[in-house]
Amino acid sequence: MGDRIERSDEEWRRRLTPEQYAICRQKGTEPAFTGRYWNCKDDGVYRCACCGAELFDSRDKYDSGTGWPSFTRPAREAALRTEEDRSHGMVRTEVLCARCDAHLGHVFPDGPPPAGLRYCINSAALDLAPRDAASGSR
Ligand code: FE
Repeated sequence: MGDRIERSDEEWRRRLTPEQYAICRQKGTEPAFTGRYWNCKDDGVYRCACCGAELFDSRDKYDSGTGWPSFTRPAREAALRTEEDRSHGMVRTEVLCARCDAHLGHVFPDGPPPAGLRYCINSAALDLAPRDAASGSR
């Protein structure tokens, strides 16, 4: 992608909160039912907390009952990339921001029809922005 954003680890550490850094740059996971968006029903566009890229739309958000923000699809396919994650004795599909490689969460094949996907995303990796203002980056 032409607009990739690459920063040093030190720079990310400086720009992010400790929680954002631990989750987005060190592949952490916030405890269920603790993030600021798991129960959020506000309208808008969810942007990457690290680079501002539009990742998800509130219209694709649903209540999965898991305690993490859950979406049926990305705002655009190109906004995300995935990787196989074999950590913690499981095989999961990790979801990352295609623009800055932020760890966002995982995608599971137990979502609602028709696609049947559940994008299980950390609140700390997201920034909800009004639909109108949801363009550009920081
Ligand atoms: Fe990003």
